[in-house]
Amino acid sequence: MKQFQKTSELQSYLQSTGKSIGFVPTMGALHEGHLALIEASKKACELSVCSIFVNPTQFNDPSDFDKYPVTLEADLEKLRNAGCDAVFYPSVSEMYPNGTADLKSYNLGFLETILEGKYRPGHFQGVCVVVDLLLQAVQPTKLFMGEKDYQQIAVVQKMLELTNSSVELVKCPTVRSAEGLALSSRNARLSEEQKIQALAIYKGFNLSSESAFKQSLLENGFESIDYVACVDPTTLLEKPYGEKPCLILVAAFLGGVRLIDNKTFS
Ligand code: AMP
Repeated sequence: MKQFQKTSELQSYLQSTGKSIGFVPTMGALHEGHLALIEASKKACELSVCSIFVNPTQFNDPSDFDKYPVTLEADLEKLRNAGCDAVFYPSVSEMYPNGTADLKSYNLGFLETILEGKYRPGHFQGVCVVVDLLLQAVQPTKLFMGEKDYQQIAVVQKMLELTNSSVELVKCPTVRSAEGLALSSRNARLSEEQKIQALAIYKGFNLSSESAFKQSLLENGFESIDYVACVDPTTLLEKPYGEKPCLILVAAFLGGVRLIDNKTFS
């Protein structure tokens, strides 16, 4: 596996291969959810590139950034074992040589004011900035992202349209533990007991109302809830709870860790 920290070196390597490129952007602390994206990329493209970059511009909460798990050596080992061809793990100054004060902004419309956009101001602008920069560096044929971050996929699709990009966005299903907990790097901050309490999210998808879902989360140790929402899976516009086809999304705090998840009912 080739390893790069400089954009210029990554680019000269990728251009020399002349192969179709699949790209998987991550923030590291890799788990089976990330590796499923690498697997999908390997099936669809000749060369798979993964990036590991904890992007400061997408954290609206500084303590979330400070506590974000960093496990670079273990990540590199997992990527090697997964058969990833190249990994890019730039420094903050490599990604933002002119600092982060004056960055490009994207007209994301209502996507930025609902759900995650509402509770994490600036988050999606930061996501767009970094994905746009990474795409310029990697110039992939296909981009692989997880439905665990459902709204992020819609935002990145919008960014691709705004930038007239020809990159194809491939959506991959959420990978869960055997019990149903959506895998997430932030789960590393949960105790074993909290991981069991967190299953209230997965079980809650089967409850028939928003208030029953919220009540169950609170009874299972969640300290606060940003939202439980029911939307149309295509437009992300709110609709009556449980009326199919729909997507139920949740964001809630357990032990100070913000967990998100979603499930589609077709
Ligand atoms: P992150 O490192 O959390 O920024 O995630 C990097 C990519 O992995 C994003 O496209 C996520 O949606 C995806 N991802 C994270 N967790 C999962 C999961 N449990 N299943 C599938 N994809 C995931």
